[in-house]
This record gives sequence, C-alpha cells and structure tokens, in this order.
Amino acid sequence: MQTQKIAILGAAESGVGTALLAKQQGFAIWVSDMGCIAEKYKKILHEEAIQFEEGTHTQLEILKADLVMKSPGIAESTPIMKAVRAAGIPVVSEIEFASRYTDAFIIAITGSNGKTTTTTLIHKMLKDAGFNVGLGGNIGMSFAGLVAQHNHDYYVLEVSSFQLDDVSTFRPNIAILLNITPDHLDRYDYEFENYVEAKLNITKYQDEKDLFIYCQDDPGITTGMQDKAIKARKIPFTQQSELDEGAWLANEITLTINLNKKQFTMSINDLGIKGKHNVYNSMAASIVARAVDIKKESIRESLMDFKNLEHRMERVLKIGGVEFVNDSKATNVNSTWYAMESIQNPIVWIAGGVDKGNDYEVLKALVRQKVHTVICLGNDSRNLHEAFATHTDLMINVHDMKEAVRIANHFANKGDVVLLSPACASFDLFENYEDRGNQFKAAVRNL
Ligand code: ADP
Repeated sequence: MQTQKIAILGAAESGVGTALLAKQQGFAIWVSDMGCIAEKYKKILHEEAIQFEEGTHTQLEILKADLVMKSPGIAESTPIMKAVRAAGIPVVSEIEFASRYTDAFIIAITGSNGKTTTTTLIHKMLKDAGFNVGLGGNIGMSFAGLVAQHNHDYYVLEVSSFQLDDVSTFRPNIAILLNITPDHLDRYDYEFENYVEAKLNITKYQDEKDLFIYCQDDPGITTGMQDKAIKARKIPFTQQSELDEGAWLANEITLTINLNKKQFTMSINDLGIKGKHNVYNSMAASIVARAVDIKKESIRESLMDFKNLEHRMERVLKIGGVEFVNDSKATNVNSTWYAMESIQNPIVWIAGGVDKGNDYEVLKALVRQKVHTVICLGNDSRNLHEAFATHTDLMINVHDMKEAVRIANHFANKGDVVLLSPACASFDLFENYEDRGNQFKAAVRNL
C-alpha cells in the first residue's frame, strides 16, 4: 500500500500531537506553521525526525498531501486553506484524526463558558473512582497527543467550537453542551446561528447508545436543537423546573439527578465550587458520573473536594475585611454576569481590556444593584463608561494592575468584595488572562 501523506497546518499543541500520532500510524508528514514554532515543539519535531517549516506555508509541499489537519487557530479565509479547499484535499480537525485511532470511551465537553471547570471536574470524578482516564483536548495535552502517548480507557476532552468545525466521524459516547453565548462571532460570519451550528456538531455522529447532556435553560441551545436530528439520548439539566429525567434543583437547594430511574441528591451548599454557574457545571458532571456508574458516595466526595481553578472566582486574600477575588478568566459578559450574581456583598469591580463588541445590557441591573465603583483597566474604556455611567457611583480609568488594585482597595469598605472579572480579553495590557490574574494577585499581596 502506498504511504499516506498528511500535511499539518499549525505546529502547537494540536499540530505536534497530530504529528506524533501520524508518525505512529505510518504517515509521511509535513508540518507547516506560518509563524514561529515554540522551542518545546521544535524539539519534539527534531527528536522524532518529523519534517517541518516555519514562517511560511510552502504550497507545493502542502498540496501533495492526501489529508490536511488544520489546527483550530487557522481560519478558512487564509490563502493556504483556500488553496487546500480548491485542490479538494480532505481536511480534518485534530480531534477527528485522533478519534480514528482509539476505541476508548470519549466524554466531550463544549460550550461558551465553563468548559475547563466542568472537564476538570469530570476528570476528577472518574479518577477518584479509580478509572484509567486521560484529560485533554483544548486544555493540557491534545487528544492526538494523548492517543499517541497513553493508553487510557476513558478520555475527558474539552472541545472548542473551532475544533468541531472539521469533524466527519467524531462520535463522543457522552457529549455535553453547557451554554451558548455570542463569542468568537468573527469566525462565523457574525451569524449566531453558524456558531450554534458549530457547537451542535458535537452531536452529529452520535447514535442512540450515546448521551447528549445539555442546558435546558439556554434558549440558544434549545432553539438550535429544534431543527436538528439528534440521535443520542438527550438528557437535560435545568435550574428552572423539575424533570423526570436529568438534573434539576429541588427546593432551590437540592441538586437532584435522575438517570435510569436512579436518584442522586446533594445540597448545593456542600459543593466545593459556588455560584449558579457552578451548579450548572456540577449538574452536567454528575449526570456523567451517574452514566458511567460511579457510586453515589464517591460522586459526593469528589464534588465536595473540588475547588475553583486558578483565575476563576479564585479567592485571593481578605485584607481589613475586604475580600479580593480573581476571575481573570472571565473574558466575556456572560461569565462576569455569573461572577456578580454569585456575590452577595457590595462590589468594587475591576473591568475592561479588549472588548470584542460586548453588549453590556445584561450586566446593567446587577451593576446597579451591587457595584458602587468601577475601575476601568485598559487602553480604551469608552464602552464601559457609556454602558455604566448611570448605573454606578464612581468610574475611574487606570492603565496598570498595581494602580487598579491600589485604587480599588482605597474605595472598598469593610465587607466589600474587590472583583477582577474583566468581561474582556487581556491583550492590550497583558500577555494573556493568566498574566492578568497573576499580576492582580501579586498586587493584592503587596498591599
Ligand atoms: P471555559 O473553559 O469555557 O473558558 P472556564 O471554566 O475556564 O470556562 O470558566 C471561564 C469563566 O466563566 C470563569 O470566569 C468562570 O467563573 C465562568 N464560568 C464557569 N462556568 C460557567 C458557566 N456554566 N456559565 C457561565 N460562566 C461560567
């Protein structure tokens, strides 16, 4: 048989993971990255004697391929993708490619917010219960890298909508869709429907034996599902009503799961992670745990034990009665809404950054009710002022984190929460959201 050729576009986590798996599977490989390849990935490619180029896409080489793997960061509108499409070469995403070479049980999580939290929680539940389980996808190691280097029976994968763009057989045994709010619309021709469509791709190749777990309170999801022929067994979760099957809140406080006529209940006060959004995340995760038959006691212990991940409603310090909370990962309005919703005390809010066309309307009521001071941290804070000037007492512009924290502390009263939950991306003043969160924590500790 002739050797199959694969061209891999993009040489970061997905690209290099794919290259490793492709090598194992006997492909001839050409890795191509338009930018610079990070040293750690170059080292792997050298060690494995995999051919690569950086700073360019040599069309002649790429168009020789029988198959192209496009990394999720590369847009269809790039010249190289147009050439690949024009040549009629099949394109796969990394998760599609990886899924062809494993028989493991796959749990895939997608949504606009809460993916990392829910993926990590499910992984913990399975691991605590003694499963041979791997964690990856959009966090940690790529799925292809996991398949190439490990032999797990179960994979818990965080999946972004970009990774779902080029799937043709990817069939998770359990798929979860947490929520859909407008984000990354630039990649979907500014059409919300296209974005919903991409997220629902997670169900496309599922069959009757599989589960699709989704949030029934999200109109984007329920509307999107209406004209989709989803074959998987649909299991909803909700905080608005009681259900016969799925997850819901009884008496506003008891997380209740009913699956296969078996019940699991637990007070939300005993959950290790707090807030309405985390109740949703815990519901989705608990349905999975029941579906793979984890014992109730073990589920309960994992849920009690699981703490917020760094930069997500992370409590930093309490100084003079003022609590400092780092929610730097909140890069859109929806996640900031949940942050504010979960706080009962008056708030000094540190917001701002790169605004991807935010619609602040949904935040106004909460800001009016809870926020007395807004610290606008960013190069351009006009949108924040326009949205909130009449909904809060005080708005102050700042240009670095130390200043933001110092001023926030100055205006905070005993019992207040200083909340960094920017609702914006971080690229104007910081390397990424981690850098922003770390600078916040350092500034707080230096007060
Ligand atoms: P993702 O991986 O989808 O970006 P994370 O778990 O990293 O999600 O959380 C991102 C931000 O969204 C954090 O600020 C977090 O507090 C908030 N968040 C977590 N879960 C949800 C949810 N279910 N709905 C809305 N916001 C959420």
